Amino acid sequence: MEEETLKKYLEAGRIAAEALEFGRGLVRPGVKILDVAEQVEAHIVKLGGVPAFPMNISFNDTAAHYTPSPGDETVFDDQVVKLDVGAHVDGFVGGDTALTVDLSGKYSDLVNASRDALDAALKVVQVGTTLGEIGREIEAAIISHGFNPVRNLSGHGIGEWDLHTGYSIPNYDTKDDTPLEDGMTIAIEPFASTGVGLIHDKGVPFIHSIIGRKPVRNIVTRQVMKRLDDYNGLPFATRWLTKDMPLFKVNFALKELNQLDILKSYSPLVERAAGAFVSQAEHSVYVGDKVIVMTRF
Ligand code: MN
Ligand code: MN
Repeated sequence: MEEETLKKYLEAGRIAAEALEFGRGLVRPGVKILDVAEQVEAHIVKLGGVPAFPMNISFNDTAAHYTPSPGDETVFDDQVVKLDVGAHVDGFVGGDTALTVDLSGKYSDLVNASRDALDAALKVVQVGTTLGEIGREIEAAIISHGFNPVRNLSGHGIGEWDLHTGYSIPNYDTKDDTPLEDGMTIAIEPFASTGVGLIHDKGVPFIHSIIGRKPVRNIVTRQVMKRLDDYNGLPFATRWLTKDMPLFKVNFALKELNQLDILKSYSPLVERAAGAFVSQAEHSVYVGDKVIVMTRF
Protein backbone atom coordinates (compact mmCIF):
# COMPACT_ATOMS: atom_id res chain seq x y z
CA MET A 1 0.00 0.00 0.00
CA GLU A 2 1.15 3.53 -0.80
CA GLU A 3 2.57 5.43 2.16
CA GLU A 4 0.12 8.31 1.63
CA THR A 5 -2.86 5.95 1.54
CA LEU A 6 -1.81 4.11 4.69
CA LYS A 7 -1.40 7.46 6.43
CA LYS A 8 -5.01 8.31 5.64
CA TYR A 9 -6.29 4.96 6.89
CA LEU A 10 -4.31 5.37 10.11
CA GLU A 11 -5.55 8.91 10.59
CA ALA A 12 -9.16 7.78 10.11
CA GLY A 13 -8.57 4.96 12.58
CA ARG A 14 -7.17 7.28 15.20
CA ILE A 15 -10.09 9.67 14.76
CA ALA A 16 -12.69 6.89 15.08
CA ALA A 17 -10.97 5.55 18.20
CA GLU A 18 -10.88 8.96 19.82
CA ALA A 19 -14.51 9.67 18.90
CA LEU A 20 -15.65 6.33 20.33
CA GLU A 21 -13.85 7.02 23.59
CA PHE A 22 -15.40 10.48 23.67
CA GLY A 23 -18.80 8.86 23.13
CA ARG A 24 -18.25 6.36 25.93
CA GLY A 25 -17.68 9.28 28.28
CA LEU A 26 -21.07 10.77 27.39
CA VAL A 27 -23.11 7.65 28.15
CA ARG A 28 -25.01 7.88 31.43
CA PRO A 29 -28.61 7.42 32.54
CA GLY A 30 -30.92 10.25 31.49
CA VAL A 31 -28.83 11.39 28.52
CA LYS A 32 -30.52 11.30 25.09
CA ILE A 33 -28.98 8.91 22.59
CA LEU A 34 -29.65 11.53 19.89
CA ASP A 35 -27.39 14.02 21.68
CA VAL A 36 -24.60 11.46 22.00
CA ALA A 37 -24.76 10.47 18.32
CA GLU A 38 -24.71 14.09 17.19
CA GLN A 39 -21.87 15.06 19.50
CA VAL A 40 -19.77 12.06 18.50
CA GLU A 41 -20.31 12.68 14.78
CA ALA A 42 -19.41 16.37 15.27
CA HIS A 43 -16.32 15.27 17.18
CA ILE A 44 -15.18 13.18 14.19
CA VAL A 45 -15.41 16.27 12.00
CA LYS A 46 -13.62 18.39 14.60
CA LEU A 47 -10.75 15.89 14.57
CA GLY A 48 -10.44 16.21 10.78
CA GLY A 49 -12.41 13.16 9.68
CA VAL A 50 -15.84 12.45 8.24
CA PRO A 51 -18.32 9.93 9.69
CA ALA A 52 -18.11 6.77 7.55
CA PHE A 53 -21.61 5.85 8.73
CA PRO A 54 -24.12 7.15 11.28
CA MET A 55 -23.11 6.34 14.83
CA ASN A 56 -24.90 3.14 15.89
CA ILE A 57 -26.30 3.07 19.42
CA SER A 58 -27.99 -0.30 19.93
CA PHE A 59 -29.61 -1.59 23.10
CA ASN A 60 -29.94 -5.03 24.70
CA ASP A 61 -31.17 -7.57 22.11
CA THR A 62 -30.38 -5.20 19.23
CA ALA A 63 -26.89 -6.10 18.05
CA ALA A 64 -26.38 -3.25 15.59
CA HIS A 65 -27.82 -0.85 13.02
CA TYR A 66 -29.87 1.34 15.30
CA THR A 67 -29.13 5.03 14.95
CA PRO A 68 -31.29 7.72 16.53
CA SER A 69 -34.31 8.77 14.47
CA PRO A 70 -34.98 12.47 13.80
CA GLY A 71 -36.08 13.91 17.16
CA ASP A 72 -35.41 10.60 18.96
CA GLU A 73 -36.38 10.98 22.63
CA THR A 74 -34.81 7.70 23.81
CA VAL A 75 -32.53 8.07 26.83
CA PHE A 76 -29.90 5.85 28.37
CA ASP A 77 -31.17 4.02 31.42
CA ASP A 78 -30.09 0.50 32.42
CA GLN A 79 -29.40 -1.01 28.98
CA VAL A 80 -26.56 -3.04 27.55
CA VAL A 81 -25.34 -0.40 25.08
CA LYS A 82 -23.34 -0.98 21.90
CA LEU A 83 -21.58 2.11 20.52
CA ASP A 84 -20.26 1.75 16.98
CA VAL A 85 -18.37 4.57 15.27
CA GLY A 86 -16.82 4.98 11.82
CA ALA A 87 -14.56 7.61 10.27
CA HIS A 88 -12.90 8.14 6.92
CA VAL A 89 -10.26 10.55 5.64
CA ASP A 90 -10.60 11.40 1.93
CA GLY A 91 -12.75 8.29 1.55
CA PHE A 92 -10.32 5.89 3.23
CA VAL A 93 -12.37 4.07 5.85
CA GLY A 94 -9.66 3.34 8.40
CA GLY A 95 -11.88 3.49 11.41
CA ASP A 96 -14.76 1.19 12.22
CA THR A 97 -14.74 0.50 15.93
CA ALA A 98 -17.20 -0.48 18.64
CA LEU A 99 -17.51 -1.22 22.33
CA THR A 100 -20.20 -2.17 24.82
CA VAL A 101 -21.19 -0.26 27.95
CA ASP A 102 -23.21 -2.23 30.50
CA LEU A 103 -25.48 0.22 32.31
CA SER A 104 -27.41 -2.66 33.92
CA GLY A 105 -24.46 -3.78 36.03
CA LYS A 106 -25.46 -7.39 35.30
CA TYR A 107 -23.66 -8.23 32.07
CA SER A 108 -19.98 -7.50 32.61
CA ASP A 109 -19.10 -11.06 31.62
CA LEU A 110 -21.01 -10.67 28.36
CA VAL A 111 -19.07 -7.46 27.70
CA ASN A 112 -15.81 -9.28 28.44
CA ALA A 113 -16.74 -12.14 26.12
CA SER A 114 -16.78 -10.06 22.94
CA ARG A 115 -13.74 -8.08 24.05
CA ASP A 116 -11.74 -11.23 24.82
CA ALA A 117 -12.84 -12.68 21.49
CA LEU A 118 -11.56 -9.59 19.69
CA ASP A 119 -8.23 -9.82 21.55
CA ALA A 120 -7.94 -13.52 20.70
CA ALA A 121 -8.62 -12.78 17.03
CA LEU A 122 -6.08 -9.95 16.95
CA LYS A 123 -3.42 -12.28 18.35
CA VAL A 124 -3.59 -14.55 15.29
CA VAL A 125 -3.97 -11.84 12.64
CA GLN A 126 -1.04 -11.79 10.22
CA VAL A 127 -0.46 -12.31 6.52
CA GLY A 128 -1.51 -15.90 5.78
CA THR A 129 -3.98 -16.39 8.63
CA THR A 130 -7.19 -17.80 7.19
CA LEU A 131 -10.57 -16.22 7.77
CA GLY A 132 -11.75 -19.51 9.30
CA GLU A 133 -8.94 -19.40 11.88
CA ILE A 134 -10.03 -15.95 13.00
CA GLY A 135 -13.60 -17.20 13.34
CA ARG A 136 -12.41 -20.19 15.34
CA GLU A 137 -10.60 -17.95 17.86
CA ILE A 138 -13.66 -15.75 18.24
CA GLU A 139 -16.04 -18.66 18.68
CA ALA A 140 -13.81 -20.40 21.24
CA ALA A 141 -13.38 -17.26 23.35
CA ILE A 142 -17.11 -16.48 23.44
CA ILE A 143 -18.12 -20.05 24.18
CA SER A 144 -15.57 -20.21 27.02
CA HIS A 145 -17.57 -17.42 28.67
CA GLY A 146 -20.76 -19.44 28.26
CA PHE A 147 -22.28 -17.35 25.46
CA ASN A 148 -22.95 -17.77 21.75
CA PRO A 149 -21.19 -15.87 18.98
CA VAL A 150 -23.63 -14.22 16.59
CA ARG A 151 -23.02 -16.34 13.50
CA ASN A 152 -24.88 -14.30 10.93
CA LEU A 153 -22.96 -11.11 11.70
CA SER A 154 -19.36 -10.76 10.66
CA GLY A 155 -16.39 -8.48 10.28
CA HIS A 156 -15.49 -7.25 6.81
CA GLY A 157 -12.92 -5.66 4.59
CA ILE A 158 -12.81 -1.85 4.65
CA GLY A 159 -11.62 0.23 1.74
CA GLU A 160 -11.78 3.46 -0.20
CA TRP A 161 -15.39 4.73 -0.05
CA ASP A 162 -16.25 1.21 0.93
CA LEU A 163 -17.40 0.03 4.35
CA HIS A 164 -17.97 -3.61 3.39
CA THR A 165 -15.59 -4.86 0.73
CA GLY A 166 -16.28 -8.25 -0.73
CA TYR A 167 -15.29 -10.64 2.05
CA SER A 168 -16.45 -11.49 5.58
CA ILE A 169 -14.43 -12.08 8.75
CA PRO A 170 -16.56 -14.74 10.44
CA ASN A 171 -17.46 -14.90 14.12
CA TYR A 172 -17.32 -18.72 14.16
CA ASP A 173 -15.27 -21.43 12.50
CA THR A 174 -16.54 -21.44 8.93
CA LYS A 175 -13.42 -23.37 7.73
CA ASP A 176 -13.00 -20.57 5.19
CA ASP A 177 -9.41 -21.05 3.99
CA THR A 178 -9.08 -17.62 2.36
CA PRO A 179 -5.81 -16.17 3.71
CA LEU A 180 -5.25 -12.59 4.85
CA GLU A 181 -3.06 -10.83 2.32
CA ASP A 182 -0.43 -8.14 2.60
CA GLY A 183 -2.03 -4.69 2.47
CA MET A 184 -5.53 -5.72 3.52
CA THR A 185 -7.55 -3.45 5.78
CA ILE A 186 -10.19 -5.26 7.81
CA ALA A 187 -12.68 -4.75 10.62
CA ILE A 188 -13.07 -7.58 13.12
CA GLU A 189 -16.24 -7.46 15.20
CA PRO A 190 -17.28 -10.30 17.48
CA PHE A 191 -20.77 -10.25 18.96
CA ALA A 192 -21.53 -12.35 22.04
CA SER A 193 -25.12 -13.25 22.85
CA THR A 194 -27.06 -14.75 25.73
CA GLY A 195 -29.54 -15.93 23.08
CA VAL A 196 -29.23 -18.29 20.12
CA GLY A 197 -26.57 -16.29 18.30
CA LEU A 198 -28.66 -15.36 15.28
CA ILE A 199 -30.04 -11.96 14.37
CA HIS A 200 -32.77 -10.86 12.01
CA ASP A 201 -33.96 -7.53 10.60
CA LYS A 202 -36.54 -5.93 12.84
CA GLY A 203 -37.97 -2.43 13.04
CA VAL A 204 -37.91 0.84 11.13
CA PRO A 205 -34.61 1.60 9.35
CA PHE A 206 -32.93 4.95 10.00
CA ILE A 207 -29.71 4.05 8.15
CA HIS A 208 -29.53 3.87 4.35
CA SER A 209 -27.09 3.87 1.47
CA ILE A 210 -27.27 4.52 -2.25
CA ILE A 211 -26.53 1.32 -4.15
CA GLY A 212 -27.06 2.39 -7.77
CA ARG A 213 -27.95 5.11 -10.21
CA LYS A 214 -31.10 5.70 -12.17
CA PRO A 215 -32.75 8.79 -13.60
CA VAL A 216 -35.16 10.27 -11.08
CA ARG A 217 -38.03 12.51 -12.22
CA ASN A 218 -39.64 13.75 -9.03
CA ILE A 219 -38.23 17.12 -7.97
CA VAL A 220 -38.20 16.34 -4.24
CA THR A 221 -36.48 13.01 -4.79
CA ARG A 222 -33.96 14.73 -7.06
CA GLN A 223 -33.22 17.29 -4.36
CA VAL A 224 -32.55 14.51 -1.87
CA MET A 225 -30.49 12.53 -4.41
CA LYS A 226 -28.25 15.54 -4.97
CA ARG A 227 -27.65 15.83 -1.25
CA LEU A 228 -26.73 12.12 -1.09
CA ASP A 229 -23.84 12.58 -3.54
CA ASP A 230 -21.81 13.81 -0.56
CA TYR A 231 -21.81 10.34 0.98
CA ASN A 232 -20.56 8.68 -2.20
CA GLY A 233 -22.23 5.35 -1.43
CA LEU A 234 -21.38 5.28 2.30
CA PRO A 235 -24.29 4.89 4.74
CA PHE A 236 -26.17 7.93 6.02
CA ALA A 237 -28.91 8.60 8.60
CA THR A 238 -32.43 9.87 8.05
CA ARG A 239 -31.69 12.55 10.67
CA TRP A 240 -28.71 13.84 8.63
CA LEU A 241 -31.15 14.82 5.88
CA THR A 242 -33.79 16.40 8.12
CA LYS A 243 -31.27 19.05 9.22
CA ASP A 244 -32.02 21.02 6.07
CA MET A 245 -35.20 19.39 4.72
CA PRO A 246 -38.60 18.62 6.26
CA LEU A 247 -39.10 15.00 7.36
CA PHE A 248 -42.07 14.37 5.05
CA LYS A 249 -39.96 15.28 2.02
CA VAL A 250 -37.11 13.08 3.18
CA ASN A 251 -39.42 10.13 3.81
CA PHE A 252 -41.11 10.60 0.44
CA ALA A 253 -37.76 10.59 -1.37
CA LEU A 254 -36.35 7.63 0.56
CA LYS A 255 -39.47 5.63 -0.24
CA GLU A 256 -39.22 6.39 -3.93
CA LEU A 257 -35.50 5.58 -4.03
CA ASN A 258 -36.24 2.27 -2.26
CA GLN A 259 -38.88 1.47 -4.88
CA LEU A 260 -36.42 2.28 -7.66
CA ASP A 261 -33.95 -0.16 -6.06
CA ILE A 262 -31.24 2.46 -5.81
CA LEU A 263 -31.46 2.79 -2.03
CA LYS A 264 -30.83 0.12 0.56
CA SER A 265 -32.24 0.70 4.05
CA TYR A 266 -30.81 -1.11 7.05
CA SER A 267 -33.23 -2.22 9.75
CA PRO A 268 -31.98 -2.80 13.28
CA LEU A 269 -30.44 -6.28 13.68
CA VAL A 270 -32.13 -8.00 16.59
CA GLU A 271 -31.46 -11.35 18.34
CA ARG A 272 -34.01 -13.98 17.42
CA ALA A 273 -34.33 -15.12 21.04
CA ALA A 274 -36.74 -12.91 22.99
CA GLY A 275 -35.15 -11.11 25.93
CA ALA A 276 -31.58 -11.87 24.89
CA PHE A 277 -28.63 -9.53 25.42
CA VAL A 278 -25.83 -8.95 22.94
CA SER A 279 -22.38 -7.35 23.34
CA GLN A 280 -19.98 -6.20 20.62
CA ALA A 281 -16.33 -5.22 20.31
CA GLU A 282 -14.66 -4.05 17.11
CA HIS A 283 -11.31 -2.87 15.79
CA SER A 284 -10.03 -1.97 12.35
CA VAL A 285 -6.72 -3.54 11.40
CA TYR A 286 -4.06 -3.06 8.74
CA VAL A 287 -2.49 -6.36 7.74
CA GLY A 288 1.07 -6.16 6.43
CA ASP A 289 4.61 -7.03 7.49
CA LYS A 290 3.50 -5.17 10.54
CA VAL A 291 -0.04 -5.65 11.79
CA ILE A 292 -1.50 -2.35 12.97
CA VAL A 293 -4.66 -2.08 15.05
CA MET A 294 -5.74 1.24 13.61
CA THR A 295 -8.49 1.96 16.14
CA ARG A 296 -6.60 1.15 19.34
CA PHE A 297 -7.14 4.15 21.62
MN1 MN B 1 -18.79 -1.07 13.29
MN1 MN C 1 -17.91 -3.11 11.07
